[in-house]
Amino acid sequence: AEAAGGGDKEAVRAYFNSTGFERWRKIYGSATEGVNRVQLDIREGHAQTVAAALSMLRDFPLPLAGATVCDAGCGTGSLAIPLAAEGADVLASDISAAMVSEAQRQAQMALAQQPAAGSPFRMPRFEVRDLESLEGRYDVVVCLDVLIHYPREEARAMIRHLASLADKRLLISFAPSTLYLDFLKRVGELFPGPSKATRAYLHRERDIEDALREAGWRVANKGFISTQFYFSKLFEAVPAGSPPSS
Ligand code: SAM
Repeated sequence: AEAAGGGDKEAVRAYFNSTGFERWRKIYGSATEGVNRVQLDIREGHAQTVAAALSMLRDFPLPLAGATVCDAGCGTGSLAIPLAAEGADVLASDISAAMVSEAQRQAQMALAQQPAAGSPFRMPRFEVRDLESLEGRYDVVVCLDVLIHYPREEARAMIRHLASLADKRLLISFAPSTLYLDFLKRVGELFPGPSKATRAYLHRERDIEDALREAGWRVANKGFISTQFYFSKLFEAVPAGSPPSS
């Protein structure tokens, strides 16, 4: 539980309970009024990441209905809610109380749209907690676009921790560190939002793979999502001993 301790984490929590909450709720929402071009672009990129994660999970050898899923750093519930709608048993948690209550509100709205009978929708369990304090075991652990708040070593420790919670699948997305993106970030073209309030950490693909390997996992599937202002690598990992999927 050493990961991402100290001032950085408190700054992240404060940000996602205030200006960061307002900004990201807007980006992840569906209204277009008052949403600028950059935010719309990030919305589109993020939606693609969520869709890619969902399709990886639908290929999951077990049915999603009834599978236990831990959505670590759930934000407004962009992934947790569609998973719940397919009958997954979801724990959705986030360090930000504002995010968690927004996710809960959206889940209630989604539930209200379900047919009265025969819907597999299963209300997620919502908790305000940081990644470090997650415990238990889940078939699947997902952590989308959260590692941007973790420096290199903390990210490594966090991956080990998340892997210790997962039995079958681990999905992680992160902003990749490449010469080009490092350059864009330096000149301030990328991550125009979060970089103003909190630091943004890009990660090398190799570092993430190494951390997974140290934890006894291997990457079975990779995706890369990019729009003009949004870049995310999505890794689907499985326990190192499991057979290659057909
Ligand atoms: N995973 C969600 C998604 O893809 O829609 C949200 C992504 S958002 C960019 C990052 C989220 O990570 C925020 O909701 C933030 O509050 C949360 N977060 C940041 N650091 C965290 C930590 N240490 N523990 C739990 N959540 C954290």
